[in-house]
Amino acid sequence: MARDTDRKPILLTVDDDPGVSRAVARDLRRQYGETYRVVRAESGSDALEALRELKLRGDLVAVLLADHRMPEMSGLEFLEEAMDLFPHARRALLTAYADTDAAIEAINVVDLDHYLLKPWDPPEEKLYPVVDALIDMWLAGDEQPVTQTRIVGHRWSARSFEVRDFLARNSVPYRWLSSEEPEGEQLLAAAGVDATQIPLVVTAESDHLVDPSIGDLAARVGLSTTPAIDFYDVVIIGGGPAGLGAAVYAASEGLHTVLVERQATGGQAGQSSRIENYLGFPDGVSGAQLTDRARRQANKFGAEILTTRDVVGLDVRGSSRAVRFADGEEVLAHAVLLATGISYRKLDVPGADELTGRGVYYGSAATEAPACVGDDVYIVGGANSAGQAAAFLSHHARRVTLLVRADDLARSMSHYLVRQLEDIPNVEVRLNTEVIAVHGDGHLEALTLCDNAAATQEKVRAGYVFVFIGAAPHTDWLEGIVERDRSGFVLTGSDLLAGGRRPRGWPVDRDPYFLEASTPGVFAAGDVRANSVKRVASAVGEGAMAIQLLHGYLEHR
Ligand SMILES: Cc1cc2nc3c(=O)[nH]c(=O)nc-3n(C[C@H](O)[C@H](O)[C@H](O)COP(=O)(O)OP(=O)(O)OC[C@H]3O[C@@H](n4cnc5c(N)ncnc54)[C@H](O)[C@@H]3O)c2cc1C
Repeated sequence: MARDTDRKPILLTVDDDPGVSRAVARDLRRQYGETYRVVRAESGSDALEALRELKLRGDLVAVLLADHRMPEMSGLEFLEEAMDLFPHARRALLTAYADTDAAIEAINVVDLDHYLLKPWDPPEEKLYPVVDALIDMWLAGDEQPVTQTRIVGHRWSARSFEVRDFLARNSVPYRWLSSEEPEGEQLLAAAGVDATQIPLVVTAESDHLVDPSIGDLAARVGLSTTPAIDFYDVVIIGGGPAGLGAAVYAASEGLHTVLVERQATGGQAGQSSRIENYLGFPDGVSGAQLTDRARRQANKFGAEILTTRDVVGLDVRGSSRAVRFADGEEVLAHAVLLATGISYRKLDVPGADELTGRGVYYGSAATEAPACVGDDVYIVGGANSAGQAAAFLSHHARRVTLLVRADDLARSMSHYLVRQLEDIPNVEVRLNTEVIAVHGDGHLEALTLCDNAAATQEKVRAGYVFVFIGAAPHTDWLEGIVERDRSGFVLTGSDLLAGGRRPRGWPVDRDPYFLEASTPGVFAAGDVRANSVKRVASAVGEGAMAIQLLHGYLEHR
């Protein structure tokens, strides 16, 4: 079937007699061609193949007209199978006079709307009134074509969650369909897979991907994954606020800039449901919105943004800096900005690993919130990130319980947020409390909590736990390249000048710039930098400042 870019609803006709098939299609086109696309087939199997393709494209089928007597598959058999793919399409059978009894019987079998006697001349009298009626019935259902990526998966499938979360965090619009709902089943059938082969992703271009890797998925939904050139002025590693801020400034100042992000742009901030303290947004802004704007701004100035590329190595090669990806590929630049931020520690208790993505989530409150409706939700952590998640999820969940290890929330959470939580009736804060085990068969069902003050344990029913604890920079891959503090944060500028001495092996006759690491031409900004303020505004500010300092480095090399 030829691919057509218009999204007219379809009138499909199938008849094994090529002459009749052409004649029906011609008559239909003449009357309905402006508004509908007429697709014809000469066998039931060809027609079903066409319908599967239309289903994957997200097209709408308004009417199916099938000849009753076809050799390999009768019209009734065809309509029965077609109903599984397009249950809303209206159905009519073309029959010879002698077959009217069979057609009448079929009304019950395949819920036939009409039958038409052959020949149908003149069509104005015999064909169009019937097709008009079928179209009216279909229009009353108000079906809409699907133009977005669709994911068919299962609520408790960790891979389905991973795919969904990845698309959401990269601002790729998608429609989520459960493999247990009819529309999901229809798409699985159209793609020729079963419910064990999830997630199924059908892109807006109607490509279908069965259980795709994140790298494949990124490339197929239009996210760049490979550098366009071999050598850049600057490679920015990390696509959080610091990296995006730097990309905007670097590209706007004419530097050849590539930003490399291993998951999704936005970093931690991208997972925030509402950032209340970022300048210029008095009503707050969601991390997703802020990220989307920043990414578009960086793109506008010509920065390249690569997603799903994990940087695992950095080498000094004379005046060049080589950045190595996990698959061994390299990209070279005059200078590098480390903007890799921090990420959450895993919940190190029995059961947590197996149930990650199946009720146990790290961040990701925004992606999962709609599924939490009416459920009891637990959040582990006592910092602002956990507090924001509690406030956000309280709109969806029946009850939200914040589990805090410390005996006081005010020590780790901003005052405004503590007060906000106090005013939300379905949020409870449990101090001195830790999760010591998670339980569930296939998905999270319960948590064991330990109250450290009372020295008691309790098992509670839980469908969801969101973990926001122990954020740390993961910078082991920088060992031997740049100096880090004991927690792994990258030391820069004056922090490197212990006792007034420059770092060991420092090769140039000047002190490191404010945001420069212990290797000239390598800079650090945002949360990954030792002694930085762990906030969105400061990360963005440092990203911008790093580019200014980097200019100085490039000029005076
Ligand atoms: C839920 C939540 C809510 C928050 N709310 C607020 C708030 O309201 N106000 C506020 O000021 N701050 C808030 N913060 C803190 C704020 O988001 C961070 O301070 C800020 O995001 C730090 O930005 P960054 O760019 O330095 O690092 P990050 O945001 O951590 O971004 C680093 C990026 O680098 C990527 N990366 C890491 N290693 C590699 C590698 N080897 N290769 C490629 N990519 C890599 C990561 O995937 C990540 O995307 C919140 C944080 C969280 C988690």
